[in-house]
Amino acid sequence: QVVGDEVSLSELPLREDLRGATPYGAPQLDVEFRLNTNENPYPPPPALVADVTQAVAEAATALHRYPDRDAVALRTDLAAYLSSSTGVPLRTENLWAANGSNEILQQLLQAFGGPGRTALGFEPSYSMHPIIAAGTRTEWAPTPRRADFTLDTDAAAEVLASRAPDIAFVTSPNNPTGGSIPLDGLRTLIEAAPGLIVVDEAYAEFSSQTSAVTVLAEYPAKLVVSRTMSKAFAFAGGRLGYLAAAPAIVDALQLVRLPYHLSVVTQAAARAALRHADETLASVHMLAAERDRVVESLRGLGFSVVPSDANFVLFGQFADAPTTWRSYLDQGVLIRDVGIPGHLRVTIGTPAENDAFLAASKEIVR
Ligand code: PMP
Repeated sequence: QVVGDEVSLSELPLREDLRGATPYGAPQLDVEFRLNTNENPYPPPPALVADVTQAVAEAATALHRYPDRDAVALRTDLAAYLSSSTGVPLRTENLWAANGSNEILQQLLQAFGGPGRTALGFEPSYSMHPIIAAGTRTEWAPTPRRADFTLDTDAAAEVLASRAPDIAFVTSPNNPTGGSIPLDGLRTLIEAAPGLIVVDEAYAEFSSQTSAVTVLAEYPAKLVVSRTMSKAFAFAGGRLGYLAAAPAIVDALQLVRLPYHLSVVTQAAARAALRHADETLASVHMLAAERDRVVESLRGLGFSVVPSDANFVLFGQFADAPTTWRSYLDQGVLIRDVGIPGHLRVTIGTPAENDAFLAASKEIVR
């Protein structure tokens, strides 16, 4: 008997627009091969663990005080990383950080979306974009991609111009389909859009395309680039997302962020992890090579595979994707049913994990 369990959700004075909504819910199951949430499969190296431990121990001596509300040291480190990886000279004032890029996206919608405003996304894409829009009461304007999941930039530009959303999300590489948008296509979209363009680059380190960060200086009033340490950086458990934009955009987010949102522990751990960026990011090349191997093997087995620039691949065709998802699970391989008919998504793991996935795939085509 749980205290209060006689009360059901439908009896609560919940906002009308949240009634019947479904929460984000990637299954967290205790199975041997977990290839469903696009994490880096390589655990942090011992030197990184030691540095995080020491940094957190030092930070713990100041736990009676609130953290630096503006996370200046961390933002300075993030600016240094992003500058060196993109060649764009970014300053602390260009960076903002939060508990995962989901929180970054939520702050953007709190500041630039909200009741009476519209956010647009090119679907299928990251499922949290419409959920965060709903949570901030921003109207969601889903706009379809081509049947092959690529983005028709000219058609997309027309929609942006006519629909005039306050914010548009461009996910590149796109989750769950894997493709990136080239820079000239992105320029077309930004120039057509009267509102903000948020390029969600959660998987940028895996991509062969140039980052949108390189055009920030051209569109300071319109462009925001969102990043995360959850994927290539192998820091999903640490919860650290960030963005690069004009300083005025960062100022806008100060109006909605909760004070002290990034704990002393988070800031210290993220800075320690960033000091090991070179080691951590060395896995990116291995994962990209493994991705290409997985794609080739799946094609060899007769699957159709959507070209991917990320650390996951969308593949099919299945008469009944939910049933096939279950067959993988029955073989100890957890992948993702993202709700695209006939398709499933698999995260690229270690070679051994990918072998297990491919062995299960072989059983499935039999
Ligand atoms: N954007 C995209 C496209 C993602 O796939 C994810 C994670 N699945 C996120 C943002 C959010 O990740 P996090 O909050 O861990 O940074």
